[in-house]
Amino acid sequence: MIKTRGFAVQDENAVFEPFAFERRDVGANDILIDVQFCGIWHSDIHQAKGEWGNSTYPMVPGHEIVGNVSQVGSAVTKFKVGDIAGIGCFVDSCRKCSACEADQEQFCKVHCAATYNGTEMDETTMTFGGYSKHYVVDEAYGLKIGADQNLAAVAPLLCAGITTYSPLKRFKVGPGTRAAVVGLGGLGHMGVKLAVAMGADVTVLSTSPSKEADAKALGAHHFAVTTDKANLKPLAGSFDFILDCVSADHEMDMYLKMLDVEGAMVLVGLPENPISAKAFSLAGNNRILAGSSIGGIKETQEMLDFCAEHGITSDVEMVTPDQIERAYDRTIRSDVRYRFVIDMKN
Ligand code: NAP
Ligand code: ZN
Repeated sequence: MIKTRGFAVQDENAVFEPFAFERRDVGANDILIDVQFCGIWHSDIHQAKGEWGNSTYPMVPGHEIVGNVSQVGSAVTKFKVGDIAGIGCFVDSCRKCSACEADQEQFCKVHCAATYNGTEMDETTMTFGGYSKHYVVDEAYGLKIGADQNLAAVAPLLCAGITTYSPLKRFKVGPGTRAAVVGLGGLGHMGVKLAVAMGADVTVLSTSPSKEADAKALGAHHFAVTTDKANLKPLAGSFDFILDCVSADHEMDMYLKMLDVEGAMVLVGLPENPISAKAFSLAGNNRILAGSSIGGIKETQEMLDFCAEHGITSDVEMVTPDQIERAYDRTIRSDVRYRFVIDMKN
């Protein structure tokens, strides 16, 4: 076993403290990653604080991990020592079921090993995340990252990037698509950058008038404040695609009515309560309401390559491990533009 250190909470009321633990030895197909950067995002907070009812402790969160490969197993072909590698939301799956065969390992029918607060394929060994010095992962679940990028700003792509890229690709957003992004937060700001890079005409629909300048700086072509209903009338039937990134409970019909014939609205935000929509809002214009959850390894690699090619990274604010608590408080207050990333190097 490999001795390593990280930052853990011991129960739902605890604060983060240094934590010594062990990773498995590097097997034939494994790589050892020296973690450089790890993004903080809202699900870390939900799980660290036990808010989803699925928490096991001690917990080392973190699933937006970037670092350098410091050791490779004897059968590894994808990586060599010195490469930059990333880890996203999961680190293993059965590799045989229909979902795995369709490159949708996040929906593995047997077991998808979450990067933290989960278990390995034995469904017993706990997984610890990227708020740590090292991670051992099977090369098949590691992502290749070009070294010539701002690696701290690449880290959030491993969750926020793939979560927004996947539905944009699935609904063929590209030149000529009239696309809207609802909610300019961590996910939303990536959705805007990606949709713009794909060639769409992009509108941000926001509850925050103060975000207009940011939206435009991210590349959005139009901006509308949704709290003023007068702004929304001209938008009826005007979009082919809407990416809904809102984390709080909100009205669906208002947005659905903005879809043109055969238009689709995809929910990636995960509000707490059940959603409701009028059947007429869906039946009219043959509208589609869909959901989407992260993405598989193949598509995550495709997204990373697309972002490298187009110079896309996340807007980030750096913190040190002793500032995790403060970063959590500010994330809860939406006081971050747009993602905190922990510098794990030192
Ligand atoms: P975030 O940074 O807090 O952004 C959410 C945005 O929603 C806010 O910035 C705000 O944008 C808007 N908003 C907040 N309250 C609203 C309200 N009452 N009505 C309308 N808009 C409101 O959160 P995030 O990190 O982007 O995460 C967004 C959601 O995605 C979360 O629910 C998260 O759990 C989920 N998520 C899902 C997946 C997946 O695979 N499906 C993956 C990652 C995250 P404006 O100020 O512009 O209105
Ligand atoms: Zn599977």
